[in-house]
Amino acid sequence: MVNYLNNKLYNYNEIYNDCLKCGKCKPVCTIFNISGDETKSPRGFIDLLNAYQEGVLVLDKNTKDMFDSCFLCTNCVDVCPNDLPVDTIIEQVRFDLGKKYGIAWYKRMFFFLLRHRKIMDFMSYLGYVFQSCAIKINKEKEWATPRFSLPIIKKGRFLPFAKKTSFLNKYDEEINSKNSKRKVAIFIGCMANYSYTNIGDSLVGILKRLNIDIIIPKYQLCCSAPAYFTGDFDSTDYLIKENIKYFETFIDEVEAIIIPEATCSAMIKEDWERYLYNQKDWLQRAIKIKEKIFMATDWLYKNTELESILLTKNKNIEDIITYHDPCHAKKVQGVYKEPRALLHANYEIEEMSNSNVCCGFGGVTIQSEKYELAKKAGKLKSDMINKTNANIVSAECSACRMQITNSLENSSSKAIFKNPIELIYKALE
Ligand code: SF4
Ligand code: SF4
Repeated sequence: MVNYLNNKLYNYNEIYNDCLKCGKCKPVCTIFNISGDETKSPRGFIDLLNAYQEGVLVLDKNTKDMFDSCFLCTNCVDVCPNDLPVDTIIEQVRFDLGKKYGIAWYKRMFFFLLRHRKIMDFMSYLGYVFQSCAIKINKEKEWATPRFSLPIIKKGRFLPFAKKTSFLNKYDEEINSKNSKRKVAIFIGCMANYSYTNIGDSLVGILKRLNIDIIIPKYQLCCSAPAYFTGDFDSTDYLIKENIKYFETFIDEVEAIIIPEATCSAMIKEDWERYLYNQKDWLQRAIKIKEKIFMATDWLYKNTELESILLTKNKNIEDIITYHDPCHAKKVQGVYKEPRALLHANYEIEEMSNSNVCCGFGGVTIQSEKYELAKKAGKLKSDMINKTNANIVSAECSACRMQITNSLENSSSKAIFKNPIELIYKALE
């Protein structure tokens, strides 16, 4: 396993020296906009990390609390004139902090489940069986609100609920169309696998309509994003390498592995490479896979006749959509025109005041230990959505879906959330 303590990907002193102290990153920083505290801003984080490397600052619980409050939204990287990788150096220091303070038991349990698909399947099924007697469910808006609190499952939150059968267990491994000459694989992501299963159903429906053969790889594991962003690099290492070995068994058979989830796609496309930077053999294998990784709307828009087919269908006059740009889609992968172009064929789109502002999901730590921050960031986003006439907010990301749904319910909004793939399939039908 990579020892980041001895082989730093980035040198904090160098980044500190490269920082112009211009402050352009502050107005777009999710945590700074909530806290108003300079130490919890990109420039502040760089100062702290420089002091840590100089030996002036000790990583104590107070500094851990500061670094844990970054949402990893990458807004700062997007605007920085020197492209300083503030999100990555925070991921790096979280590894150091994880080694020093350990990873909380419930996070370790969660990551253990992500490493073991069969046990996760069973736990999800148990969740499905017992959720009806323990919680209130809104099927249309796809949330459940617990009547009790556990570290992640907090009372009063509007959370995704488990479906009886996961997406991966629902379909055969291969779905073939008549006389098809094209084939893709689907990587579904954990939330769409267990909770938002209509996304996968819709993607299968679209690919069938396009006469494209599908591989649904049964043994795909979590992309590792939750573990990586929390600093659990043992789980990250395991998940990346197991997935690489498995993807290699079918990668040459398919044109692409398409993913209807921005975070999973960004993790596999960008962060696997970053993580494996000094493991040459694994790095080459990850780079080969990366060439075939695409967000679903991006690939469908650029490589199929889907848009032309959609343009032959009726305009939907009942729904108005506002599109939220997930941080991992627009800023990390440059995908924002493609979902809009496909949706625009059949739906009216009304832009919110700033679709680029982070929804405030922030990852496992923010959602479990710093929910008040997620709630404040979420309110900024739900206020923007509520100021439009939209009855649907869409984004190709289930982490955004969980966070935005919660924020909309907290503001008693009537708007519901849909992945663009679900809306596109509805238009095709
Ligand atoms: S990643 Fe987001 S929250 Fe973290 S420092 Fe950058 S802008 Fe702020
Ligand atoms: S925008 Fe970049 S260079 Fe300017 S203060 Fe922020 S991190 Fe430093």
